[in-house]
Amino acid sequence: MKRLRAHEIKLDEWRCRVVVLIGGSDTQLTTLFKRYSTNKADTDFFVRSIREASGCCAITLQPTGYTHTQFIYLHTTPKLADPYAVNSLAHECLHVTFGVMKHVGVRLTSASEEVFCYAHGHLIEQVWLKLKRPTGVRR
Ligand SMILES: [Zn+2]
Repeated sequence: MKRLRAHEIKLDEWRCRVVVLIGGSDTQLTTLFKRYSTNKADTDFFVRSIREASGCCAITLQPTGYTHTQFIYLHTTPKLADPYAVNSLAHECLHVTFGVMKHVGVRLTSASEEVFCYAHGHLIEQVWLKLKRPTGVRR
């Protein structure tokens, strides 16, 4: 198993963060989840879910009871020009967006739609910026 890489994205407006994890062994993942104060039951569930999702591009891991720290797990660094990788990242980011909105008590309605869309777009942008190659688009 490749070494674990962790990219933390702070979502200060919503007092949340998402940690994008790539690779790593069960031991490395367990240590990292503990560092983020994930309880043992959630940590065990996350590590098991990661192993069971070996065929998936990405999964979202949300601790039970609170969502101020969520995780997106990727087995390998995604190729950002691959449409399926973009699909998967957008999908996982939407799970995280729902967790963030739940954390701040915003329910999806026609009145809050723009807040969700803004948060989702911002999150996708931040994930893309963390995962892009050094030679990627300059900002
Ligand atoms: Zn899903």
